[in-house]
Amino acid sequence: MDFDEMDDMKEARERARTFAEKYFTEELAESADRDEKFPMDLVEISRKEKILDFSNPWKILVSIEELCRRDPGLGISVTITAFGSENLMLFGSDYLKEHYMNSVLEGKKTMGLGVTEAGGGSDVSSVRTEAKKEGDHYVLNGGKMFISNGQIADFFVVLARTSPPPSPEKRHRGLSTFVVESSAPGFTANKLHGKLGVRATNTAELIFDNVKVPEQNLIGEEGKGFYYIMTFFNISRIYVAAQGLGIAQGALDRMMEFAKNSTNLANEGDLKEEIHFAIAEVATRIEAARNITYKAASYLFNFNPNPVVTSMAKYYAAETAVFAAKKALEITGLTGITSKLERVYRDSKILEIWEGTSEVEKLIISRMMTKNQGGN
Ligand SMILES: Cc1cc2nc3c(=O)[nH]c(=O)nc-3n(C[C@H](O)[C@H](O)[C@H](O)COP(=O)(O)OP(=O)(O)OC[C@H]3O[C@@H](n4cnc5c(N)ncnc54)[C@H](O)[C@@H]3O)c2cc1C
Repeated sequence: MDFDEMDDMKEARERARTFAEKYFTEELAESADRDEKFPMDLVEISRKEKILDFSNPWKILVSIEELCRRDPGLGISVTITAFGSENLMLFGSDYLKEHYMNSVLEGKKTMGLGVTEAGGGSDVSSVRTEAKKEGDHYVLNGGKMFISNGQIADFFVVLARTSPPPSPEKRHRGLSTFVVESSAPGFTANKLHGKLGVRATNTAELIFDNVKVPEQNLIGEEGKGFYYIMTFFNISRIYVAAQGLGIAQGALDRMMEFAKNSTNLANEGDLKEEIHFAIAEVATRIEAARNITYKAASYLFNFNPNPVVTSMAKYYAAETAVFAAKKALEITGLTGITSKLERVYRDSKILEIWEGTSEVEKLIISRMMTKNQGGN
């Protein structure tokens, strides 16, 4: 077993770090947060400099870490513009790949994923948006809630119901995924304001009012949408775990910086011990979270995904990010509460919510473990 990073990972990490140091200024991070403004100019620069290399998932993973380490709001904004593209990569036709996916991976277009609805996001099978086949197209009616890139994406992968479920227990059947263009008549995106964190990201409610979608925009087979989305989550959760590693590492960086500069503080002895303990605890948790995340990534990138380890990585890295940001706020006291750490703490919370809440991840882990035990 080799724990050393490969050379191309090291190089990608270094490039992302240098990029973030240069362009993620405190002024930009603060204004994007305050004004809830998506940093499109920054995204354009990152595209030009090819900060994300979609040909190598390990490079993407460490780049996400480094960008979120510097600033979560800006880091996530820069790395979320291809959100959902794996659905097209894995299940899309050649037409969908050529017509939609390639332009996103080349940095020419932005996409999003519409799964969550107002009635609750955790139960994906409860989707009520309908897609009715009429001749050579489908007609979509319904809505999605909390959709990242909602107002800025050129198109979305959307989960909708194409046939009634055979029984209440089998609601996951009869769902399908489509590519829906935001320019289609009947499509509306309403920006959501006042989020706790990641306010630099663009989040919207989507409304489909008789939106016509050509039949060639059906992804894969009709009725398989639920399975496609679950497969996608097993990929995207690893990247959320990478966001968590980055945020936690960024909080640790700031704690170390504070420790270095804290020699003049009153009650130096007591405070120092507290700082040392906090640094040790956060650093240990990051190490554990990184090991689980890289193990989950290793399974996935070798085409042998392990959903239990993936959910462990997502749940634990998210918790580590929130823990680290909170510790950093606490030990830096007034300095932390009035500094960018306040923003980092708010930003960290989303990791325990999107792509499956921590409760949902724990249910997956436990259910799959107990099921496997029973089946042997
Ligand atoms: C900023 C932001 C961006 C987002 N971006 C996207 C996006 O791009 N695309 C998209 O589709 N969605 C997106 N989401 C939605 C996100 O994935 C959902 O918020 C998440 O899945 C949880 O769904 P919910 O908020 O409806 O909560 P609910 O599902 O209503 O859950 C509420 C609470 O109940 C708990 N709970 C639910 N079910 C169970 C259970 N069976 N057992 C125990 N506890 C349970 C949950 O853990 C949670 O604490 C985004 C959300 C936010 C806030």
